[in-house]
Amino acid sequence: MIRINENYRKLQSSYLFSEIAKRVAAFQEANPDMDIIKLGIGDVTRPLPEACIQAFHAGVDELAAGPSFKGYGPEQGYPFLRETIAAHDFQARNADIDPGEIFVSDGSKCDTANIQELFATDIKVAIPDPVYPVYLDTNVMAGRTGVYKDGRYGGVVYMPSMADNGFLPAFPEEPVDLIYLCFPNNPTGATIGRDALSQWVAFARDNKALILFDAAYESFIRDDALPHSIYEIEGAKEVAVEFRSFSKTAGFTGTRCAYTVVPKVCRAYDSDGAAHDLNALWNRRHTTKFNGVSYPVQKAAAAVYSPEGQAQTKALVDYYLKNAALIRERITNLGYDHIGGENSPYIWVNTGGRNAWDFFDLLLHQAGVVCTPGPGFGRCGEGYVRISAFNDHDKVEAAMDRIGKAIG
Ligand code: PLP
Repeated sequence: MIRINENYRKLQSSYLFSEIAKRVAAFQEANPDMDIIKLGIGDVTRPLPEACIQAFHAGVDELAAGPSFKGYGPEQGYPFLRETIAAHDFQARNADIDPGEIFVSDGSKCDTANIQELFATDIKVAIPDPVYPVYLDTNVMAGRTGVYKDGRYGGVVYMPSMADNGFLPAFPEEPVDLIYLCFPNNPTGATIGRDALSQWVAFARDNKALILFDAAYESFIRDDALPHSIYEIEGAKEVAVEFRSFSKTAGFTGTRCAYTVVPKVCRAYDSDGAAHDLNALWNRRHTTKFNGVSYPVQKAAAAVYSPEGQAQTKALVDYYLKNAALIRERITNLGYDHIGGENSPYIWVNTGGRNAWDFFDLLLHQAGVVCTPGPGFGRCGEGYVRISAFNDHDKVEAAMDRIGKAIG
């Protein structure tokens, strides 16, 4: 008899976006003329930068001619892209990462989801609350979390990220083995400074733990004091894996390209305490289960690093940051506490004592604007909603005008 993986029955969180969709559909049906503005889901709206489009086209043309045709490429990514990434994103910031430590993939969602399979099922996992749900759900699927009760999985060590600690995850009070961090953060928009990140690196080194550092929103960092990579912190290479994505940097959410950095000195241990090379393990996994990102997409990703690509992607991210600044300004004027939106596309708004779903309904019904209720990202998200800057500027302006009228 074919049997299911029973861990899947413990999953909870698909509730969030289906519940949002249900409420939006019901409102739209009752108000067919209302032009609902979505500031909920974190998808980009602007077209790909011209430099990427040109490289994409040129890549397709190469596949159209016999001499330049390409079949399977290296699973880890073409050297031209891995070398460019290592030079621009790391070596230029004094982070000593070489191309052999870069694994190109079709998304940080898959990479942050898949990496956990390198580790034992009985390790302790520390997960921020609120959190990008992929980290939690993939550990549920793998059977690491125990059962769900009163909004929490019994086997997970939650790290509350609340106003009283500047929305930085609280250090675990018990030993943990695998630590998920995400900065700039989804959903809170919080960032982490060098000192705080150094403390996490020290914590991981002291505990022989591993940090999974999700930097999918790195390109939104404009404050020079903030680290762009965990490898800017001394000692991080032995204890951290980093995830980057072209999705939000260059509008690749539909095109799909990302990469994961696994340093060659990064270690995990077997049950006898012997150290193992994580770069080799991830390489084994990647080459067995993944067959590479398409050549034209990798050409388009490499174009991000050309002088034109750098200017165009900066302009693209600046466009969303301008939206974020407008949202922040209007939310401030309305007297609501918030964080994020300065080095991040997300603004995490304190609902002023209202239940998050009630506040969601208020914005939907009174303003026709969709946001994301905080509890969808974890128990500590109660009392907050996430407003996303990913939309066209005129729509964001219209949405904030309407919100102002509704709750001002
Ligand atoms: N990591 C975080 C924190 C995200 O918010 C997202 C997407 O919203 C991803 C990863 C996924 O990125 P990708 O499009 O590369 O799969």
